Amino acid sequence: MPDKQQTLVLLKPDALQRDLLGEIIRRFEMKGLKIVGLKFVRLTEALLEEHYAHLADKPFFASLKQFMMQTPVVGLVLEGYDAVAEIRKVVGSTNPRAADAGTIRADFSMNMPSNLIHASDSPESAETEIKRFFKDDELFSYEKITDRYIFGEGV
Ligand code: UDP
Ligand code: MG
Repeated sequence: MPDKQQTLVLLKPDALQRDLLGEIIRRFEMKGLKIVGLKFVRLTEALLEEHYAHLADKPFFASLKQFMMQTPVVGLVLEGYDAVAEIRKVVGSTNPRAADAGTIRADFSMNMPSNLIHASDSPESAETEIKRFFKDDELFSYEKITDRYIFGEGV
């Protein structure tokens, strides 16, 4: 059996401003990823400095932080087999113009930092990032009627 994982996604201010929240969430749902956490988050500079610490010395760091604080972001925790890698595949590469057609970033965006979505890049960072944005009681475990078709158990 493949590894069932959870991963963190943030829908960035451009997704909210461009009315793409529903379309992006729909794509995750259609892929068969289960939403186990969902809320608005108001990002702060301190939170962004932790979340984007790997970019602290980049020339675009200040403008990236400003961009991410323009509106609330939507935080999602999604669950599924190999969810971390599968979501990165659906989201597409960081630069939307280098992303493969059919990915969300390629289909709906043109430039950075406004590439619509953050998604954890490894199982280790997913664990840290879920804890960074969600409390235990904000994560839900539930069965859906489609689980056995999506996850292929006992169909
Ligand atoms: N970013 C940017 N310019 C760059 C590289 C990254 O503005 O040259 C922004 C972009 O919004 C990206 C975020 O910084 O999504 C985080 O960068 P990372 O390399 O972690 O890419 P991601 O994991 O989001 O694909
Ligand atoms: Mg990243």
